[in-house]
Amino acid sequence: MDIVANFESIRKNIPKTVDIVAVSKTKPTEDILALYNFGHKKFGENKVQELVAKKEILPDDIQWHMIGTLQTNKVKYIAPFVYMIHSVDSLKLLKEIDKRAKQNGRKIKCLLECHIATESSKHGFSERVLFEMLENEEFWSLKNVEIIGLMGIATHTDDENKIRNEFKYLKSLFDKIKTSYYKNNLNFKELSMGMTSDYKIAIEEGATIVRIGSAIFGPRDYSK
Ligand SMILES: *Cc1c(COP(=O)(O)O)cnc(C)c1O
Repeated sequence: MDIVANFESIRKNIPKTVDIVAVSKTKPTEDILALYNFGHKKFGENKVQELVAKKEILPDDIQWHMIGTLQTNKVKYIAPFVYMIHSVDSLKLLKEIDKRAKQNGRKIKCLLECHIATESSKHGFSERVLFEMLENEEFWSLKNVEIIGLMGIATHTDDENKIRNEFKYLKSLFDKIKTSYYKNNLNFKELSMGMTSDYKIAIEEGATIVRIGSAIFGPRDYSK
């Protein structure tokens, strides 16, 4: 598996304005270092324990992105260093991130995860709950989190039209929220959508961040 070659071929085929988070979950630190030594610094993990373990032995200037479901009681382990949390799916979780960020003298970049797939197993805000939160004063009182956009995971399907419509829906939610709540906030600009199987569609529909794992590092083996 030539990790750097895989990365380069993706990089040169997508717009420069789109950021790639290299999703290294289940992969050894050598694989991360191979891409780091090539100059890439944005890596994504979906489990707190794995993220913390890797952070401890890898270079300090890696930007770690938490992309997986995050339990409130585990926020404290990543709050000292995490660069961005893509998977904020409740006000309760956001309040905990704010509290722990404050304790660490930090402001943590967050994306609000929206439920766009038909599978109920996927996490994220429904549109109704999302707008309820945006109408809640408590949300706006949190000063140690910086809300910079939205994240979504499309349905796992071969139906490209369905995937495209889900991304279109997330982009429309983003535009609505931007206009109504963040009109004068230049930092609210990120749309994290698209993974190995659907990142090309996601970019066509307005993604600014894609989260790519297997197309860079090869298939994952969960049996180990
Ligand atoms: C694993 C994962 C990815 C990357 O998946 P690939 O299909 O390997 O690109 C992206 N986003 C999330 C939330 C993930 O858990």
